[in-house]
Amino acid sequence: MKIVVQKYGGSSVATAEHIMAVAERVKKNHEEEGLSLVVVVSAMGKTTDRLLALTRVLARNPSPREIDQLLSTGEQQSVALLAMALHDRGVAATSLSGPQAGMKTTGRYGSGVILEIQPERMQQLLAEGQVVIVAGFQGMNALGDVMTLGRGGSDTTAVALAAALGADRCEIYTDVDGIYTADPRIVPEAHRIPVISSSEMAEMAWRGAKVMHPRAVELGALYGVEIHVRSSFSENPGTIIKEDKALERLETRETLAGIVHDLNVSRVTLTGIRTGPGVMSRVFTPLAKAGVSVDVIVESAPKEGASDVAFTVSRADFAQARRLAGEVAEALGGQVEGEEDLGKISVVGTGMLNRPGYAANMFDALGRAGIPIRMVSTSEIQVTCVIPAERVEEAVRLLHRGFDFELEERDV
Ligand code: ADP
Ligand code: ASP
Ligand code: MG
Repeated sequence: MKIVVQKYGGSSVATAEHIMAVAERVKKNHEEEGLSLVVVVSAMGKTTDRLLALTRVLARNPSPREIDQLLSTGEQQSVALLAMALHDRGVAATSLSGPQAGMKTTGRYGSGVILEIQPERMQQLLAEGQVVIVAGFQGMNALGDVMTLGRGGSDTTAVALAAALGADRCEIYTDVDGIYTADPRIVPEAHRIPVISSSEMAEMAWRGAKVMHPRAVELGALYGVEIHVRSSFSENPGTIIKEDKALERLETRETLAGIVHDLNVSRVTLTGIRTGPGVMSRVFTPLAKAGVSVDVIVESAPKEGASDVAFTVSRADFAQARRLAGEVAEALGGQVEGEEDLGKISVVGTGMLNRPGYAANMFDALGRAGIPIRMVSTSEIQVTCVIPAERVEEAVRLLHRGFDFELEERDV
């Protein structure tokens, strides 16, 4: 029995017409190609955004547990509707919420982590020849509460199910034709990447290419799940994400995978704080305890005995991070500053391992355009600059024109 997991994102199920089109595709794959199908679905269109906005109208500080109770209903609507559309087309199908599908999670509400999947019910339904439809983005914790997996988390549901069921592959259907060398909505001349390695895709996803959830890419790499990213609106081939096999080839690469941007960045800076052992821990431990994820960190010592520490967080965490950092800054004789509207731009690719100078070229291009760089972070396969949010799109287009990308010849 060849199992394929398919995932349809919010824009692919935005209206009744879209759901009918998904039902037609599922019916065709199930009947004509004889596939055993598990179909993961996201909430319709902007449902999750709408529900979240509602929570903010009703409460200043809504409870994370109650937010998850609410958000999980978006996906539950979609699965039931798709099941009905399939029944109407004579296809046997059963919809399951995350908990019903045996998805066990742990961690915090709003960013649950998959602990294990008990696949027996899905396997039973598949053995009966049914299409199994699973609500993405959710699981159940030890208390029996539904939890969500973080924004964009239906991708993670799909890849985790593919791993648990030993599926042949996981197909991610979305509103673009695959992974591009930059967000095609910002750079119309961006190229589709036919095949990309999991490490480059994971890096692109962590840096902000929201087309795939980063955890989904990492799970795929860990369990050897081949992921195909395709458009739900066409039959085009899309992008295949695979393990990095051809290490020799990686060693001769000199080109990049893509330019990635992220507009969800804020910076908090503690200035003039007393230095000494344990200072960094005093700054970052309260943030960690509050569940605030910190990304780029820069420490500098402008004068003897005093230092500045700057770090970035998501906009949602900005107010809390600024408050916590302010308390520490005051205790250490310094002050706190914040800048909310920032963005990040990253160049990503294993080719950087073999050709120095990518960072210098990036700084040069941004400098010539008069785009100020607030912070920099690098690793072997990426360089990231934090810049003002309003210059991000211009920077993406600029850097996309300035670098070479490896395309058709890629064979990972
Ligand atoms: P879905 O609702 O199907 O999960 P998302 O909105 O999460 O879809 O992701 C698809 C979007 O990701 C695209 O519409 C595109 O604007 C954006 N995107 C950002 N970077 C890239 C990239 N490098 N390649 C393709 N799409 C990208
Ligand atoms: N509906 C959720 C979101 O909007 C999960 C997803 O679409 O993957 O984040
Ligand atoms: Mg998504």
